[in-house]
Amino acid sequence: MESDFLSVPSSHSFQFSCGSHIPCFNECCRNLNQLLTPYDVLRLKNSLGICANDFLERYTSQHTGPESGFPIVRLREKPDDGFKCPFVTSEGCSVYHDRPSSCRAYPIARGVVRNRQTGKLTEHFMLLKEPHCKGFQTGKHHSVHEWIENQGLMIYNKMNDLLMEIISLKNVTMPGHLDIKSRHLFHMAGYDIDSFRNKIFNKGLLNSANYDEHLLSKAKEDDTALLKISLKWLQKKIFGQTG
Ligand code: SF4
Ligand code: SF4
Repeated sequence: MESDFLSVPSSHSFQFSCGSHIPCFNECCRNLNQLLTPYDVLRLKNSLGICANDFLERYTSQHTGPESGFPIVRLREKPDDGFKCPFVTSEGCSVYHDRPSSCRAYPIARGVVRNRQTGKLTEHFMLLKEPHCKGFQTGKHHSVHEWIENQGLMIYNKMNDLLMEIISLKNVTMPGHLDIKSRHLFHMAGYDIDSFRNKIFNKGLLNSANYDEHLLSKAKEDDTALLKISLKWLQKKIFGQTG
């Protein structure tokens, strides 16, 4: 049986359940091509109680997008253990509460398209039916919209959309390969968020007059507030946008 990728509306209803009661339990947590967004990294490093730089070093591989030049961060599988995810255990995902967006969303994949004139983002969804996944044969029915809410994806989607804004901005204003300096800035402010905090609060990297005072103050302790600032800072720094 081949994989099916069905384009579906958010009202679409599908039957699905996942857990240790399903014969394929943990099957999908190996041979990954698990890309991580900046918000995924933030949640995972906090779940593990380590700083972003340690997380990136220990658990990810990184390379440069061949066409865009954007830094790409992936979870690094364990080649000596069946190419499993570093976080899978016999009981399931050890970082379940903070698992990455694509693990949460599965079997739904979400894409967004940005209107060039209005800047408005439109979301669309796919239902992925893969032969190894037996979750479609059991459990409750869910609409796509309910699935997204129940899997705690709202905050992930919101933060990942800020990243999409940067990618769209680059495609419009700077087609081609991102230069090495911009790449470095993107990696530091997007993924290595603890270094970014140190640089803005201890080394004067950012002009605080350009940012909301309350958000800036919150960002001293709160990584989500900090990431909102860092993604705005990148828009300004790399693409010359105000913010
Ligand atoms: S993060 Fe968790 S759910 Fe995602 S692949 Fe790893 S073990 Fe599986
Ligand atoms: S393959 Fe499907 S049902 Fe099996 S563990 Fe993964 S998501 Fe759950």
